[in-house]
Amino acid sequence: MARKIVIAGGGPAGMCAAIYAARNGADVTLIEKNSSLGKKLSMTGNGRCNLSNLEMNEKMYNLSAEKRMKEWLSVYGVLDVINFFKSLGIVVKSEDGYLYPISGQASTVVTAFENELKRLGVRVVFGEQVKSVIVNGNEDSYTVVTNLNSYDGDRVILATGALSGAKSTMSTGDGYYICKQLGMNIKETHPALVGFRVDENEIMPEAGVRCTAEVSFTLGGEVLCSEYGEVQFTKDGISGIPVMQASSKVIKFVDEKKPIYACVNFFPDYDDEDYKSLEDEMLRLRDERTLKEFLNGLCNSNINDMIIRRMKMGSSMKMKNISESMVRSIFDSYRGLKIRIADSFGYQAAQVTSGGVSLGDIKDDMTVNGHSGVFVIGELADVDGRCGGYNLQWAFTSGSIAGTVASL
Ligand SMILES: Cc1cc2nc3c(=O)[nH]c(=O)nc-3n(C[C@H](O)[C@H](O)[C@H](O)COP(=O)(O)OP(=O)(O)OC[C@H]3O[C@@H](n4cnc5c(N)ncnc54)[C@H](O)[C@@H]3O)c2cc1C
Repeated sequence: MARKIVIAGGGPAGMCAAIYAARNGADVTLIEKNSSLGKKLSMTGNGRCNLSNLEMNEKMYNLSAEKRMKEWLSVYGVLDVINFFKSLGIVVKSEDGYLYPISGQASTVVTAFENELKRLGVRVVFGEQVKSVIVNGNEDSYTVVTNLNSYDGDRVILATGALSGAKSTMSTGDGYYICKQLGMNIKETHPALVGFRVDENEIMPEAGVRCTAEVSFTLGGEVLCSEYGEVQFTKDGISGIPVMQASSKVIKFVDEKKPIYACVNFFPDYDDEDYKSLEDEMLRLRDERTLKEFLNGLCNSNINDMIIRRMKMGSSMKMKNISESMVRSIFDSYRGLKIRIADSFGYQAAQVTSGGVSLGDIKDDMTVNGHSGVFVIGELADVDGRCGGYNLQWAFTSGSIAGTVASL
């Protein structure tokens, strides 16, 4: 007889699990509390859906998940994702290793999932919120209780996501409560792949600006991590890919209100000697020109203005009136601009959640300790990856494994 599987959550992990289970002949019910499937998925990759990455390995994930990710990726890796999408009729293209649907539209990915679920006869229930899972007998079956109904199944897959994403995605961390009731441990959560609000006393650019730079995060003078790329500065914060990449290594300390600084180097390609030569050459230009004119060719004008204000100087000051040591201090600012971090922009601005259901409670086949027919997948688990398609890869890896195993 076909396995009866109930899946809570119609995001990429839940939909992927449903497809693998149904392709194996299971009778699948997918419960989604929103009025449509894959709401967050449709927002991924700036609406283009960066669904995986050719540079795929366990190092792209949180340290505590690395060992397990190595195993899981060997079961279902990037080529499996490409083939899976092929089977959905989605052609995948690479942009420097970053994988996207060739359509350039995340919505086409959501539609492909919907079509396949329909084709396979998966029952999709909208607008019901899963509240709890009741274990019947000696794990013989399970009852999934929603705010309106209850659904019986031989297997239950929990794919309710976590806390990250805009309000409209309704990511409220319901799964943590359900998993706790089933005896699982939840590792403390934090927003990840997120930008930071800076201390209110920090002088920032008047207008938003993007600038290529290296950004290092420090605590007590020790560098926690460094990333290179396009950093985004606003009146009240810093973000952009390098900041987001670093965020998961820093967020815990930020949330604990530890003194974290972002140190920005606008000249990462210059070693000390090269930079000193540049400085010496520029110093020859200390003449009638103003400070603003002097700095004009050095960096983005909004960054130059910010540095002038930070140095408490006037942009119309004549260079000939500014001492050499002062000019050297200005130069130092471009290689070590220190910005005190106050807070993160929170779960609503975060792409993922770090923490979640402890991997100590999740077995290799995605079932959980103590419950042979309950599976935990996707962002609900304590796995978070870097920007670049790694989080969707995890949703598909965990979803495919759970869907396949649950159907056996
Ligand atoms: C703006 C943004 C851009 C992103 N871009 C990328 C990207 O390009 N590449 C990448 O790899 N990752 C990206 N991510 C991360 C990626 O979207 C997530 O890792 C992924 O969606 C997690 O999948 P999931 O299925 O586990 O959870 P979700 O996508 O959150 O899906 C969970 C589903 O469960 C439903 N649900 C929740 N609680 C209940 C309940 N009690 N009952 C019933 N249903 C419930 C939710 O409504 C939701 O539909 C991005 C995230 C954001 C916010």
